[in-house]
Amino acid sequence: MSTPLLELTGVTRTFGRTTQALRGVDLRVEAGRGVGIVGESGAGKSTLLRLLLALDSPTSGTVTYRGEPLDRRDRSAVRRFRRDVQVVFQDPRSSLDPRQRVGSIVAEPLRSLRVEGDHRARVREVLASVGLDADVVDRYPAQFSGGQRQRIAIARALAPRPSVLVADEPVSALDVSVRRQVVDLLARLRDEHGLTLVLVSHDIAIVGQLCERTVVLHDGVVVEEGATREVLTAPREPYTQRLLAAVPRLPDATPAG
Ligand code: ADP
Repeated sequence: MSTPLLELTGVTRTFGRTTQALRGVDLRVEAGRGVGIVGESGAGKSTLLRLLLALDSPTSGTVTYRGEPLDRRDRSAVRRFRRDVQVVFQDPRSSLDPRQRVGSIVAEPLRSLRVEGDHRARVREVLASVGLDADVVDRYPAQFSGGQRQRIAIARALAPRPSVLVADEPVSALDVSVRRQVVDLLARLRDEHGLTLVLVSHDIAIVGQLCERTVVLHDGVVVEEGATREVLTAPREPYTQRLLAAVPRLPDATPAG
């Protein structure tokens, strides 16, 4: 088995004395095998995501990146990690700085992560790949619709050429009418850029569109894990069955993987 890009082993994250947000979680993110993390509110999804992004450390257990623990004091190692593992958040209204022009927003990771090369050319390239014209660089986020803003956030994440794109509820804040377009865009980018997607969602149908594997979190514990097709069509756990029954499906949904 090849070395996973990201791996959590026996991870526990406790807040205060009583809240166990994660309890003994094992998770492997392997190159080219997207993982969907599903579960209801409070299941521990955001906590897990913060650990995967090295924004937080586990109370116990280990998190490794390409087989090694990430030393958060090693700034060049952290920069390499941040180039390689990028994130798109739920709400582009809050994740895009309203005072910056789009060109500057999309170039931000190139500047802060000291990526070499022609930043303006890279910005134009990634904007084109998310379906936005080059002239949007001079405009501000408020001049765009929610779906377009999420495209800008996706372009920013792609700019440093990551291997892994972590998406936290990437379409939940969008109008239902544009969700499908953003899901289709993520699917296309995954294929064209060879991205490994880690998708956190309460919506199991979106995971079905984008990820080969699905991990079901409940109360800080992985209660079910497997090929997305199997989890969606033949869930073993009553909790997963309830999740499936509760979530409206995207039209024309066909499970991936
Ligand atoms: P989800 O993203 O699935 O909704 P979270 O990871 O946000 O779940 O939360 C899991 C549990 O951990 C919840 O009980 C939540 O209240 C608690 N929790 C998360 N972050 C913190 C924090 N920073 N301080 C205290 N409790 C937290």
